[in-house]
Amino acid sequence: MGKVTGFLEYERVEEAYEPPQARLKNWKEFVITLNAEQSKVQGARCMDCGTPFCTSGCPVNNIIPDFNELVYQGDWKLALDTLHQTNNFPEFTGRVCPAPCEAACVLNVNDDAVGIKSIEHAIIDRGWNEGWVVPQLAPAQTGKKVAIVGSGPAGLAAAQQLARAGHEVTVFEKNSRIGGLLRYGIPDFKMEKSHIDRRITQMQAEGVVFRTGVLVGAMPAGSKVTNDAQETITPEQLKSDFDAVVLTGGSETSRDLPVSGRDLDGVHFAMEFLPLQNKVVAGDKIKGQLKATGKHVIVIGGGDTGSDCVGTSNRHGAASVTQFELMPQPPEEENKPMTWPYWPYKLRTSSSHEEGCDREFAIATKELMGSKGKVTGLKTVRIEMQGGKMVEVPGSEQEYKADLVLLAMGFVAPVGSVLEAFGVEKDARGNIKAATEGAASYKTSVEQVFAAGDMRRGQSLVVWAIREGRQAARAVDEYLMGSSTLPR
Ligand SMILES: Cc1cc2nc3c(=O)[nH]c(=O)nc-3n(C[C@H](O)[C@H](O)[C@H](O)COP(=O)(O)OP(=O)(O)OC[C@H]3O[C@@H](n4cnc5c(N)ncnc54)[C@H](O)[C@@H]3O)c2cc1C
Ligand code: SF4
Repeated sequence: MGKVTGFLEYERVEEAYEPPQARLKNWKEFVITLNAEQSKVQGARCMDCGTPFCTSGCPVNNIIPDFNELVYQGDWKLALDTLHQTNNFPEFTGRVCPAPCEAACVLNVNDDAVGIKSIEHAIIDRGWNEGWVVPQLAPAQTGKKVAIVGSGPAGLAAAQQLARAGHEVTVFEKNSRIGGLLRYGIPDFKMEKSHIDRRITQMQAEGVVFRTGVLVGAMPAGSKVTNDAQETITPEQLKSDFDAVVLTGGSETSRDLPVSGRDLDGVHFAMEFLPLQNKVVAGDKIKGQLKATGKHVIVIGGGDTGSDCVGTSNRHGAASVTQFELMPQPPEEENKPMTWPYWPYKLRTSSSHEEGCDREFAIATKELMGSKGKVTGLKTVRIEMQGGKMVEVPGSEQEYKADLVLLAMGFVAPVGSVLEAFGVEKDARGNIKAATEGAASYKTSVEQVFAAGDMRRGQSLVVWAIREGRQAARAVDEYLMGSSTLPR
């Protein structure tokens, strides 16, 4: 345990941010990592609970009390090794995870949770700076070949685990760069892409081969899903060239808004808008950028993706940014006795909201209005809950001006044609059907084909993708070798 009386003596220390006026001028990260002394104080607050709810609240089951203690003792190298035991990529989660571990922290019952995410962030950044993150070569090669389809966090975690178990791993990615939504969804100001690049270098040294611009299966004609593929491979070819295939293609079909005016110019999915900006920051050549500069922007959808559209629009210099959320405004504070140790229902204000944004709750879009084929505004109505149902409030119709409307209402399912090309069974929501427990863990209905991440569980979080990639790797290793020493 850090310091026996640490939780009584010290307050939680939040990571500081660069001020909005400064950070809005560029695409760089603006969170200031805790220094060694601040991290030590955070570590000292941990009570080393007999039942560490933080660990069970964390989808990868990070061994949180141990690394908190190690940071308090100043043993950063062992803290890094402890973190890497359960998480291949703490630099991703230390930046973008919503930290369900903190919601579950026992100190959160009647005080502020231990700043677990900020400690994770400090450990992994120090690890990279000190040169402690090095390739971990497999002790022996198995001669087995595994194909991973999709290079998001699920595919990367699976690939790294399988390469370290001695398999020959190739990752196929339809886009020009590796990383999935880490690369093309999450903006640089939340996570700079150099973090992905140095992991790719590490993984290449561990034997992973990356093939970009290669689509496995088929994409429907006219699809708006990001696809830079120059080459297509059939599932049959992949299955004959490899001993096992892992499908980690994400949940890429955006939820649409079926109202009049949807076809107007200036109405786009968030995932038509965000990837272009990330490509510009990377210095890629693109055909024409969708920009919010000088425009009145309405973002429809109140989640992470919507918030990223807000931050990106403000950096473009939008005239105004308004975000719509269908559900009523949540309370400012959670009801802790009702929710702990689970994820609390409360108002969440992101760093992008703080940079400037009007937020409208309990509002639905009835129609998109336009002139000469271009969007000019929206007709809306207020919504209220009656008897558990959402109903429109009579007389609450309103019009909003808009030159750019971004649809950020989540993702309904993976691209169906890819699943159909493989012939894998789907679940009721259109995701790949595969269990996570028992002998058939992560196995699809097709022999030698496995599935993990958003393609299996539906739209989720980076940390869940890493968990599923790791667990699927163990299932593949068992399938190929009869047993596995990879952790679950
Ligand atoms: C804008 C946005 C912001 C987000 N912000 C956060 C956040 O702050 N924190 C958080 O935890 N989560 C966030 N998420 C969610 C998170 O990014 C995803 O849950 C996570 O990336 C899913 O990982 P994955 O590996 O399953 O799939 P993805 O990251 O979606 O990767 C799938 C990859 O597979 C490729 N692919 C698909 N089909 C094929 C095929 N047939 N052939 C070849 N390649 C293929 C795709 O091109 C893609 O690169 C965000 C999501 C979005 C859209
Ligand atoms: S629940 Fe909180 S206080 Fe308890 S061990 Fe985990 S981080 Fe430390």
